[in-house]
Amino acid sequence: MIKDFEYFSPKTVEEALSLLSQYKEEAKIIAGGQSLLVVMKQGLISTEYLVDIKGISALAYINYDEGKYLRIGALTVHHAIEKSPVIQEHFGVLSEMERNLATVQTRNWGTIGGNLCHADPAGDPAPVFIALKAKLKLASLGRERIISMEEFFRGYLEVALEPGEMLAEIQVPTPSPRTGVAQEKLMVMHGDMGTVGAAVSITLNKGGSVCQDARIVLSNAAPAPLRARDAEKALVGKTITDSLLAEAGQIASREVDPPADVHGSAEYRREMVKVFVKRVALKALERAKAA
Ligand SMILES: Cc1cc2nc3c(=O)[nH]c(=O)nc-3n(C[C@H](O)[C@H](O)[C@H](O)COP(=O)(O)OP(=O)(O)OC[C@H]3O[C@@H](n4cnc5c(N)ncnc54)[C@H](O)[C@@H]3O)c2cc1C
Repeated sequence: MIKDFEYFSPKTVEEALSLLSQYKEEAKIIAGGQSLLVVMKQGLISTEYLVDIKGISALAYINYDEGKYLRIGALTVHHAIEKSPVIQEHFGVLSEMERNLATVQTRNWGTIGGNLCHADPAGDPAPVFIALKAKLKLASLGRERIISMEEFFRGYLEVALEPGEMLAEIQVPTPSPRTGVAQEKLMVMHGDMGTVGAAVSITLNKGGSVCQDARIVLSNAAPAPLRARDAEKALVGKTITDSLLAEAGQIASREVDPPADVHGSAEYRREMVKVFVKRVALKALERAKAA
């Protein structure tokens, strides 16, 4: 049962930020409501003031500054990211990830900002953005700050937003030359939340034979998106082979702290981490070679 609240529907960012600044911890943002309403109905979250930002059209955009940054407004819906020609051309992994996220109904209404701020550890976008070294622009009245996507996630359903702040924009740098990025998740049916998922970025050296940089980011393998840093270290400076990727998978499976639920035991998830790290890293490697 949802408790009573006062409802606001600002039409500009300034109006929304004024409300958030006025009501601080007592206010809650709603965008598409696809995650928030679930937790409100379960009684896990209640609020005095609901600030509905879905009508702020200025926060729904995808801009690409060739060779520099891709900028995605927080209110951009998943479907727009999936179908964006510029994203398909320059950041194909984002488009692929969105294609497997939920159903078309959810993708049509749910926003990327809402997905990230809800911070479900099984969420698909966060690991891909972390693999892509993305940053977030957080706005409050009279102030903006930039934070790395990695620092944004603090724990289970917990992010680094301060009272009065909202997520305004996601900024994704153009990957370095010879970089390949891939993402996959274990899903029982198409569009399911992943039982586990992996996003991997690999950058090769100038000769194209040695791994210069690697990011391995896992979903649903810990209370928040997790970088398997030891597994990354196992790849950097080496020529990547099948057996090295299998070793990275083994290492990653020891770094995780997976949940156990109806979708799989913690042990099963650890096994799947081995499989997915190897599989996704191989795909990222192939892409890096072709980049
Ligand atoms: C049936 C179903 C299937 C799904 N499957 C998947 C899946 O396979 N993979 C996956 O990753 N996700 C999945 N999701 C989650 C879905 O992606 C999110 O529910 C959706 O993107 C949330 O966006 P929203 O705009 O509805 O956010 P809301 O529900 O409105 O908000 C979610 C949270 O974010 C906060 N918030 C929203 N916008 C901002 C902002 N700009 N600044 C600060 N705080 C903000 C709200 O206060 C709230 O805490 C699924 C959801 C459903 C309902």
